[in-house]
Amino acid sequence: MESRENIGGVNPEDGVDFGFRRVDQTMHTSMVRNVFDSVARRYDLMNDLMSGGLHRMWKAALLDRLAPRAAQTLLDVAGGTGDIATGFLSRGGGAAIICDINEQMMLAGRDKSIDRGFVVGPRLACGDAAGLPVASASVDSCTIVFGLRNVTRRTDALAEMCRTLRPGGHFICMEFSPAVMPLLKPLYDTYSFRVLPWLGARVANDREAYEYLAESIRTFPDPPVLSAEMQEAGFGNVSETPMSGGIVWLHSGWRV
Ligand code: SAM
Repeated sequence: MESRENIGGVNPEDGVDFGFRRVDQTMHTSMVRNVFDSVARRYDLMNDLMSGGLHRMWKAALLDRLAPRAAQTLLDVAGGTGDIATGFLSRGGGAAIICDINEQMMLAGRDKSIDRGFVVGPRLACGDAAGLPVASASVDSCTIVFGLRNVTRRTDALAEMCRTLRPGGHFICMEFSPAVMPLLKPLYDTYSFRVLPWLGARVANDREAYEYLAESIRTFPDPPVLSAEMQEAGFGNVSETPMSGGIVWLHSGWRV
């Protein structure tokens, strides 16, 4: 299960993990974009089915931490179909911007927010987390939720998100993690490598996208490594909180 395939003879030092495969950086971004192009219209339904609705609880916990206020602007990077940005606005947040490399995901989210009756929804910006089209020190909060695992240049993206925050601004990353409670691990592995791809094939018509999901979680850094990368990028007062037995971790930091 843990063996890594090397695509196109890429030097392992230069490559990036795409699930269990090691691929060239330029290929990686388009492979990730293809995954989300393929599942965009079924993405929300799959989230509910895969997590049994738990993702709503995880996202609500993140919004509690953000404590939205009318004077606050949020940048939600890799915001996809907009759960965090629309949740922020519904709870009284001032303005929200979603930046994602995938237009299809953002368009699916825009349709959803229109259906829910949002008159002014989040602003949408198509762009890469590692080169955000957002001015420096212009937002009060920045989030990336189940997104950082997919980003090709993670440390550049962390530095970019720090750059966009005003000094004292809050950064939260929520992500699946390989650091799951040992007791849960056998069941979690069976679920990830057998049930998820099966569901993906039936509901989103894309087995590989959900194999990628399971694999990409296993190659994501452990929480202390990510916290160190956050500090390196310029965040202070960094903390990490496990949720649901360590299946998900909430990383918090502040721009110093
Ligand atoms: N944050 C949303 C949520 O929690 O429902 C969406 C998460 S989805 C698993 C991952 C998102 O990351 C996709 O919408 C994908 O297009 C986006 N993404 C992947 N790589 C990215 C990058 N380099 N820059 C910006 N967005 C990226």
